[in-house]
Amino acid sequence: MKDSKQCPRCQGTDIYTDEGISKRGDRVGLGVDSWTQIFIATYVCLSCGFIDEYIDKEFMTEKKLEKIRKNWRPLT
Ligand SMILES: [Zn+2]
Repeated sequence: MKDSKQCPRCQGTDIYTDEGISKRGDRVGLGVDSWTQIFIATYVCLSCGFIDEYIDKEFMTEKKLEKIRKNWRPLT
């Protein structure tokens, strides 16, 4: 959805995101460990209400990704 700019459910293109916009609320971040939080960028389709989430691009740094690799488990 982020890259295609099209909703995978309804093929709609009326999509909005909070990426790069300061956020508040319960669904803003992932706790990676006790000291590290990564903000989430949400994409919403205004046609059907589908929501897709990604790591906010400013948190896609090698340092943050390494913390995920260290603290989470790979999907095998
Ligand atoms: Zn949709």
